[in-house]
Amino acid sequence: MTYPLDATHDAQRQSWVESANAAGCDFPIQNLPFGRFRAAGSTDAFRIGVAIGDQVLDLRAAGLIDTNDMNALMAAMPAERRALRQKISDGLAKDKEGSAQQAAWAKALLPQAQAEYTVPCRVGDYTDFYTGIHHATTIGKLFRPDQPLMPNYKWVPIGYHGRASSIVVSGQSFKRPQGQTKAPDAAEPSFGPCRRLDYELELGFYIGPGNALGSAIGIDDAEAHLFGVGLFNDWSARDLQAWEYQPLGPFLAKNFASTVSPWIVTMEALAPFRAPFTRPEGDPQPLPYLDGEANRQQGQLDITLEVYLQTAKMRADGAAPARLTHGRVTEAAYWTAAQLVAHHTVNGCNLQPGDLLGSGTLSGPTPDAAGSLMELTLGGKQAIALPNGEQRTFLQDGDTLILRGWCEREGAVRIGFGEASGTVVG
Ligand code: CA
Repeated sequence: MTYPLDATHDAQRQSWVESANAAGCDFPIQNLPFGRFRAAGSTDAFRIGVAIGDQVLDLRAAGLIDTNDMNALMAAMPAERRALRQKISDGLAKDKEGSAQQAAWAKALLPQAQAEYTVPCRVGDYTDFYTGIHHATTIGKLFRPDQPLMPNYKWVPIGYHGRASSIVVSGQSFKRPQGQTKAPDAAEPSFGPCRRLDYELELGFYIGPGNALGSAIGIDDAEAHLFGVGLFNDWSARDLQAWEYQPLGPFLAKNFASTVSPWIVTMEALAPFRAPFTRPEGDPQPLPYLDGEANRQQGQLDITLEVYLQTAKMRADGAAPARLTHGRVTEAAYWTAAQLVAHHTVNGCNLQPGDLLGSGTLSGPTPDAAGSLMELTLGGKQAIALPNGEQRTFLQDGDTLILRGWCEREGAVRIGFGEASGTVVG
């Protein structure tokens, strides 16, 4: 299936929430991403909201839904989701200004500056993939100069089952993990704080309707089972990882924290920003269960991603965060979200509403588009210089890492993902 363009994508449409009409705003009326929020500092239950300009619209208070259960909302089929999006868009549109509905909905708005968030849905299961081919190649080179990419990479969307319990929402800090590490020249491992703490720039794909155990989701239906996309930082302890990852893959190096953005940008909102899926000349074509016409035509998401670092010193000096990474998903991802869903379920594995699929580190082909410090510093061998004279190989206590993303295209209104930020503490 494909997601059609409709009146909710009309570039001329503006909102009576004036901040949504500002140029460069992440949350114009064409976006309408979903999250869970409450008044900052309150102990209220989290409610389902949609970001509009610098406000959050409380969907239940606006009479649009009768639940606080995001997962129940995500289980709806695309036609139902599309109908809800149309209602929200119509009600927020400028031509509703002065109506009784506008007066009621205005009371259901909360400024984002006065809100706090939680993980946007209950994530039952989380799987991390490895779709960034430039990341896989660069990291592979550090370990295996003669064979950077494993022979299965161009045939199988590589992934592993991650841990959902330690996924946290943007704005939170986490403790530097401790663990076992072993220097290559040491006889035995030692125990202590991670010394090679890194980030991974990823997208998180959220599952909408699930599938029954024993049934597979075909590639042509896969997108109907996607609810939307958020930013995802898969914090990684490289020294723990190097010692523990063989033979079963990442474990404690990855499961101490992962940070998501508060907002899920829906597949409907992303409809104007799709791109063809292609394979480079000479690469194998996907096996039939990973190949479909809609996927070829527009399987890719044209999203620009950036990473910023603000050190404790920058914060103390009032200096802006420094940009580390700037790249595009279309240049980074070797597999599409639909292919990940088709592959994950081809053996009968059941996905459930709210499950999260990490894309893997989305590094572009050039060094300035590298999505981890491991790549930017050549495995910690070459420190990067920050604008204020500080240097980094890996993250230090007090460092805040911020992921940002947006979509921009001629004829469409730019939409953004907000941000996913997290701070390392000792
Ligand atoms: Ca990862």
